[in-house]
Amino acid sequence: MAADPDCIFCKIVGGDIPGEVVRRTDTTVAFRDLNPAAPTHVLVVPVDHQANAAETAATSPATVADLVATAASVAEDEGLDGSYRLVFNTGAEAGQSVFHTHLHLLGGRPMTWPPG
Ligand code: AMP
Repeated sequence: MAADPDCIFCKIVGGDIPGEVVRRTDTTVAFRDLNPAAPTHVLVVPVDHQANAAETAATSPATVADLVATAASVAEDEGLDGSYRLVFNTGAEAGQSVFHTHLHLLGGRPMTWPPG
């Protein structure tokens, strides 16, 4: 699906609601998370609407690589020195609250494993 009129991330991609966009490519948009969980917390989303990372992998596998490449490029710009966390929450029980594929880029503080 190219865009879902009810999707908040489609609206940020389309410029219909504000977002602090830090990078745009042909296939991805990166913007700062509204409620940052780390000094750098950027969401990287596909331009086209898919519900989650698995759906993106099934319908547009190259876009998954694009999401990671954009995240790595933003991480470099943010001065994260090659040390950051990338997360796809998939499904409500795993913490997904927005059902437009998004890759969390988190960095700028020490992180423990496993997450809560
Ligand atoms: P998830 O819980 O993995 O689905 O992540 C959704 C993320 O989107 C959360 O970290 C929210 O803080 C973030 N978020 C929700 N609405 C917005 C918005 N309008 N602009 C930026 N980030 C948002």
